[in-house]
Amino acid sequence: MKSKSEYNLCKWCSERQHIRNYRPKEITRQCQICHGLWNRLEETCNKLTQATKSYQYDTFQIGLTLDHSFYDNEDKFRSRFKIRGIENIKTSILREIRKKFGKVSNKKTDLHSPDITINVQIGRKFETKVSVISKTVILRGRYNKIKGFQIKNKNSTNDRLEINQRHIEKILKKEISDQFSSDSIIFWPVGKEEPESLVLGNGRPFYVSIKNSKKISFKQGLSIQSNGLLFKLIEKVRALPTSAPLYVKKVMTLVSFQEKLRTSDFKNFTDFGIMIVEIINRKSKNWKLIYQMDIKVKTHRKLELTITCDNGLPIRKFIEGDGLDISPTLPQILGRKCHCNKIDILDILNEENSLN
Ligand SMILES: [Zn+2]
Repeated sequence: MKSKSEYNLCKWCSERQHIRNYRPKEITRQCQICHGLWNRLEETCNKLTQATKSYQYDTFQIGLTLDHSFYDNEDKFRSRFKIRGIENIKTSILREIRKKFGKVSNKKTDLHSPDITINVQIGRKFETKVSVISKTVILRGRYNKIKGFQIKNKNSTNDRLEINQRHIEKILKKEISDQFSSDSIIFWPVGKEEPESLVLGNGRPFYVSIKNSKKISFKQGLSIQSNGLLFKLIEKVRALPTSAPLYVKKVMTLVSFQEKLRTSDFKNFTDFGIMIVEIINRKSKNWKLIYQMDIKVKTHRKLELTITCDNGLPIRKFIEGDGLDISPTLPQILGRKCHCNKIDILDILNEENSLN
């Protein structure tokens, strides 16, 4: 049986074994445990720097896969000298890589929710592979339509809604993929909008989740203007809202009538308080609230009606009263046929800032 002194161990490996009476050798590649792994630390860190250089991040985590031959070498030695309960070569070298890379990159380690996760694979002959995955970035923002927004189509309202949505989504995705170098982006707008409507005021809220983004630290708001749309990316959030947050919208509509209007037609509009509108779907009943309605008479046959209501109230259905699945409707309240000429979303507010 070999004695300790017959083993060739480098300084790093001998110190890690906590063995007494052993004088470490001035060797690297001849080390019978690590074969010079320790001396490759700098080179490994350089590879990490290369792999992460296009990422903007604050925190990192490193995972390491080390060829089993290194463990085997160490296990043999440890069982020969009955060394137990101390950390193995992988844990040791990983800690050193982390420490050194932290210093070089000037970033912090975060074991629970790092901005980027770096996976390092070191093979038997030190073949090293490095890959990087970044944390999904979720941003909260708002968008407005500004001058120049156009969408050409002549389909039905439902199709137009869908096309409008896809069009906006396409523009946002392209802009974000340019900014964040990510090709997997999901757009989550809050509420629906009419295709013709201009989103005025603070804009329509949305969330966007960006997978494997190169930009993970997002500290300042960002405005992107493109194709008649202004996207304001406000802040990074921890997660998407689990249920749709309660939003209230303020909508300006133009309503026209076949018959001339009389002043007495509006008596139902004075101080009606909060109105409950019932919406019946095939499977369920749903209620939306109208908090306020303001009328401005434009002509004898036209009025401007501003509605503040829960997001999700189908405005056109409410005004025109088509179908029996919604009650009450504007025609029921006014006792006459109504036609909706225009819908503009003035604002979408969330619960906290909605009703004051
Ligand atoms: Zn060694």
